[in-house]
Amino acid sequence: MGSRRSFIEKVTVSAIGVPLIFNSSKLFAAVEEPYDGPVLRVAIMGLGSYGSRVAKAMLECKKAKLVGVISGTPSKIKDWQSKYSIPKKNCYNYENFDAIKNNDDIDAVYIITPNGLHCDQTLRVAKAGKHVICEKPMGINAEEGQKMVDACKAANVKLLIGYRMHYEPKTMALIKMRENGEFGKPKFFQGQSGFVIGDPTQWRLNKELAGGGAMMDIGIYSINGARYILGEEPIWVTAQETKTDPVKFKEGVDETIQFQMGFASGAVANCLSSYNIGNLDRFFMSGSEGWLEMKPSTGYGPIKGRTHKGELTQPHYTHQALQMDGMAELIFDGKQPLVPLDGEEGVKDMKIIDAIFKATKTGGKVELSL
Ligand code: NDP
Repeated sequence: MGSRRSFIEKVTVSAIGVPLIFNSSKLFAAVEEPYDGPVLRVAIMGLGSYGSRVAKAMLECKKAKLVGVISGTPSKIKDWQSKYSIPKKNCYNYENFDAIKNNDDIDAVYIITPNGLHCDQTLRVAKAGKHVICEKPMGINAEEGQKMVDACKAANVKLLIGYRMHYEPKTMALIKMRENGEFGKPKFFQGQSGFVIGDPTQWRLNKELAGGGAMMDIGIYSINGARYILGEEPIWVTAQETKTDPVKFKEGVDETIQFQMGFASGAVANCLSSYNIGNLDRFFMSGSEGWLEMKPSTGYGPIKGRTHKGELTQPHYTHQALQMDGMAELIFDGKQPLVPLDGEEGVKDMKIIDAIFKATKTGGKVELSL
């Protein structure tokens, strides 16, 4: 369980008589078929914890392949070269990666560095003529996000944000249920996103590199989740900040924020983002004719979900592998996921975060126009 390989094994078993374990969708139908189409050749920038997870997941992909690296740590480059058979000519550092424009072996760069570096790195990758996949949050505010969108448009390259949940099977099933009206009119969303952060010296607690604190890193899941679960954009936010440890969570680095969002339909959302409260990984939605609960809702999985109709049974498999194959389809064939994950989508989350930060200062309602 957990990998695309084990999923394929299950599909094979199904073929000899055991009932199919998933609700066949186009996404999964393609998994067991042999593939001889184009492969997205990706260089990862930033060989840290999440970059390592993505690289490993890409071994399960059939439409995307890790072919290059960009890193400030020579020992990591060496290690990755041998682990993933990466040729020397596809290895770069932060000083020389603009030269990637002359490298025909690389189609896209996946930026997995601290948030505060994303904008400048995206601009450079776009200028080099390569597609950009950038981790969330796309930047540290909406102004940066818009700059990134504009630069990628001008360079005629794609800009995709690493919203892996947009390819997650249970999440997609719930979005389809909502689209089919199975919950009636969505009325209320509750999102809880948080964990207790450790090492006080890490970049995530450095305003310049992180752009904030918990909200940028984990609260963004409740923001994005409210939007895809309700299927609507917020028109206002209110927010309240709590800080119990101003030494660890310095000025501009949020520890815990409660925030509320209002939607044109009358739906409301109530969310919690925290770096100091554990076990927060839950979505709940109540509609006029039903409800859903996801717990865990956005972790690496397996995601669990249930509704007024019962437990969700879609299979788990590696989020990042689904995401990278999906992004390859988007880049090559223009095939859009159920919920977009392009730069414009990222900018919407950044605008909401800007508004939440503003609301924590003013104490009032901040109107939004997305
Ligand atoms: P890490 O600290 O583990 O890795 C970041 C890497 O960026 C470093 O290892 C380093 O790689 C590189 N880097 C370049 N400049 C700096 C710098 N000044 N300080 C620190 N690192 C630097 O972070 P994560 O991998 O956890 O997070 C990276 C990004 O991925 C963030 O934007 C985060 O929000 C996102 N993320 C997304 C997740 C998701 O589920 N979608 C989950 C986790 C993170 P090198 O030595 O190779 O240069």
